[in-house]
Amino acid sequence: MDAELPDEIDCTKSTSRAKEWTGRLSLDKFKKHRDFYRMETDPALKVIIGNRQGVLNIEMSLYVVVELECQRCLRPFNVNVNRVGKYIGIEAGSDYKSYSQNDGDKEIVTLLEGKLSLTSLVEEEIFLEIPMIPKHFRDKDCQLIESAEMMVKPKAERKPFADLARMIKDTTIN
Ligand SMILES: [Zn+2]
Repeated sequence: MDAELPDEIDCTKSTSRAKEWTGRLSLDKFKKHRDFYRMETDPALKVIIGNRQGVLNIEMSLYVVVELECQRCLRPFNVNVNRVGKYIGIEAGSDYKSYSQNDGDKEIVTLLEGKLSLTSLVEEEIFLEIPMIPKHFRDKDCQLIESAEMMVKPKAERKPFADLARMIKDTTIN
């Protein structure tokens, strides 16, 4: 499980017998999205590639822990990304429409000169897993909720109409 995987897999040599890669990708290979999330662990992968009747079938199981910033309290928290994605590998620039009709549940992944980029695929999967607005899953982990409630309470005791009532009373006397 600890073997380090290359960032690219050459799919041109794939035969009808499926090939399997298991291991991890080194964190040094990832540079993008640093501001948005941070990987806490090396992504662990299992990639299976098989050529079925000229169609390149790719399956990738991914496990990685990423750190996000809660948009409610601005504190970091961890998310476990655990996904299995199924794709069809297509050379960049070729017509993929005929493939997507047959395999609607599979996503298309582009190959460059027959090479599949594992790093881009991992980044894409993480991106899909991350919520649009990351927030702590449990309210009790979120610090802002407590402090916000404490600040709201004294405000609730204000009586905005008290002054108005007095003003009305004053005018009727005059
Ligand atoms: Zn939070």
